[in-house]
Amino acid sequence: MKVIENMNVLLPQPIEMEAISLLEKKNCIVTTAPDPRPETILPLMDDTHGLILRTGITINRELIAAADELMVISRTGGGLDNVDVAAASEKGIIVTSNLGVNTISVAEHVLSMMLALSKRLSTMDHAMRSGNFGIRYQNLPRDIYGKTIGLLGFGRIGCELGKICRQAFDMQVLAYDPYLTDEKKAECTLWVKFVGLEELLAHSDVISIHVPLTDQTRHLVDETEFSLMKPDAILINASRGGVVNEAALVKALQNNQIAGAGLDVFSEEPVPADNPLLKLDNVILTPHTAALTRECVTRMATEAAKCVLDVFAGREPQNVANPKVLESGRWKCLQADRSAQAC
Ligand code: NAD
Repeated sequence: MKVIENMNVLLPQPIEMEAISLLEKKNCIVTTAPDPRPETILPLMDDTHGLILRTGITINRELIAAADELMVISRTGGGLDNVDVAAASEKGIIVTSNLGVNTISVAEHVLSMMLALSKRLSTMDHAMRSGNFGIRYQNLPRDIYGKTIGLLGFGRIGCELGKICRQAFDMQVLAYDPYLTDEKKAECTLWVKFVGLEELLAHSDVISIHVPLTDQTRHLVDETEFSLMKPDAILINASRGGVVNEAALVKALQNNQIAGAGLDVFSEEPVPADNPLLKLDNVILTPHTAALTRECVTRMATEAAKCVLDVFAGREPQNVANPKVLESGRWKCLQADRSAQAC
């Protein structure tokens, strides 16, 4: 890949060394900001050609206006809620994100919650530490082998998780995803049963949520949905907190309407100290860390760096969020030959 030399790459927050090495090998000048506050970043935008963005700052219209040389904003994650994509597009700046790099990490996280809740690991561990070895005759754990998992959302993560559950534990896989194409459904019908939401809720031993937070999915799981679940059911949410009505969830857990919940995401993050979930025994809580494995953060950073290098080399990067800008004169070289090595 022939990259234009001495391009300035700004990191509002540090990223992994592996990604910095990739940039430096192509003679990019990498600047890590001392902190990600807008007033710190603003004066650095002026001569920046590429910006690699985590979540600590919103790249708003004012910051974009100050970036006269900026060619690309590359997100390490999938969400673009901290980039003013419209303002970037108006300036002809390419915005990219990272889709799919966290799939396996999130799927593994959900699996670990599912197993930990079924095997009552947290209860057993606490009991042992307080000298209660007799716990082994109480609260018997459950196997997940041969049980039914219901997936709300059958995109990248839902599909990966379903495959693992099927292959490793011979689980029956139910999925609810009204937006899935018939083609995609046809690829999986040998091992997934696509059902309506009510059927999924009524028949699943584990329900795992993998939908984006939208107007349609906000409180998709509410009081009515909890009333349809089995009393033994485990709910896992590693999507977005707003997809579940948290007050209804707390009630369902307090009333033993369901057996337990594994939660990586919450209606308010960081979780306030008075959140009633923190007092419940039948939950496992993690602070939105499903994708934050050592391997995953490295993949996210290196993929984001590759997108920046692609643009510098005159190549169309992956996952362009504002493909319209590629039609502008500024990116004619990308347009002329989308698979070109360099302009
Ligand atoms: P994806 O886009 O591949 O899949 C989402 C699926 O949800 C799609 O198949 C879509 O058709 C379906 N869907 C949309 N609206 C729906 C609805 N109303 N009912 C049922 N299905 C619906 O996304 P993904 O990579 O699988 O990620 C899923 C979600 O997980 C993301 O949107 C994100 O919010 C969350 N996520 C969380 C973490 C974390 O750290 N906890 C990490 C990555 C992703």
